[in-house]
Amino acid sequence: MGLTVLINAGPWLPVPPNGYGGIENVVATLVPELRRLGVRVVLASVGASTIPVDDRIALYAEGQFSALQRPYNQVCGIGQAHMQAVVQAVRERDDIDVIHDHVEAIGLATVTALGPDAPPALHTLHWDLGKHPDLYGHFDGGNRVWVNGVSAAQLARAPAALRAHAVGYVHLATPLAVDAATRAPAEKENYVVILGRINPGKGQDLGAQLAHRVGFDLILAGPVGPYHRPEDLLAARDDPVAEQNPDVQFWRERVAPHVDGVRVRWIGTVSGRARDELVAKARCALFPLRWEEPGGTAVVEALALGTPVVALARGCLPELVEHGRTGLLTSDEDALGDLVAAADHLDPRECSREAARRFTPAVMAQRYVELYDEVRRLAGTRTPSVTPHAVAQALPG
Ligand code: UDP
Repeated sequence: MGLTVLINAGPWLPVPPNGYGGIENVVATLVPELRRLGVRVVLASVGASTIPVDDRIALYAEGQFSALQRPYNQVCGIGQAHMQAVVQAVRERDDIDVIHDHVEAIGLATVTALGPDAPPALHTLHWDLGKHPDLYGHFDGGNRVWVNGVSAAQLARAPAALRAHAVGYVHLATPLAVDAATRAPAEKENYVVILGRINPGKGQDLGAQLAHRVGFDLILAGPVGPYHRPEDLLAARDDPVAEQNPDVQFWRERVAPHVDGVRVRWIGTVSGRARDELVAKARCALFPLRWEEPGGTAVVEALALGTPVVALARGCLPELVEHGRTGLLTSDEDALGDLVAAADHLDPRECSREAARRFTPAVMAQRYVELYDEVRRLAGTRTPSVTPHAVAQALPG
């Protein structure tokens, strides 16, 4: 019999998510590929998750994401209640070979607290590892719980105690990469896109300033806090909860003054085919980052859609983008704007070919299967696993 993995996606959003949902999207990309490789997947999530799996654990019927707007003392039981259900399932079942956890902080802590008799576990770190220094700085996985990053640059920022438990990193993937090499490139239009949450780390303020200074049309796509449409944000004008949201504050104070609806536009969250078209037709995808981007899903999506990446060389960007071939990178904020025109000379097909080679779900799933074997080896369990033959068959080419 093949490997059975309990994948914990958490209680916040369904898998796949209805729109925005970084981690849930990664899980939605990974699960079908794992099952194609013969892995049985038990998914811990919410009842609203529709992705086909072999078995499910769900305490909550619906995603609890919107509760995160409420004060800590009202919401701090949600993650714990979900994890309690996961712990009960792990204790009652005898078929779980590996736990693959994706839930920030409480996932790692609870899986570790399960103790030495529990199955080996891999916890994927999806976020900036400068966060939670007390948790990560004192982490001890007891030779049973191991972690992986989503880029080398991200792991380099982890405290030593966490890094000592790292079995490697796995770059993010996108289903858009699957037929990227054979898809006809889109006809480019005369705008630049920034796709992502409106947030200081993503640097939309800098992008908007550059658009005015250098002279290029810029479309900003993505939510402002919980607001997905400009009209919803407008309607929340006098709402005190909105006023306290740091992303809403960032939007109002630093971005909105540059959004004139002509040179710079904000169109809210885009999804599905509209998102893909927006990115595919853009001259380039701009990432004026002010943080060390840990994984960069929007970066690999842009490449898959044949859109060169123009970015500040922070976090995972130099790992994902080859300067001069699939994008242009600089460490100098002032030089970033000039790279937009230069990126027009890059070949969109280089970008999509690179994505088809490196950022497909199959490549990501194969790496995770290797890491499942690695954590089981480290924890001293050796029972049948996915055969290398099955892995080779599921890979393209
Ligand atoms: N995204 C989207 N619509 C938007 C803005 C973003 O679907 O309007 C998606 C984007 O395509 C990507 C994800 O949200 O899949 C953002 O992931 P990324 O790793 O780039 O950033 P994060 O928000 O996780 O830091």
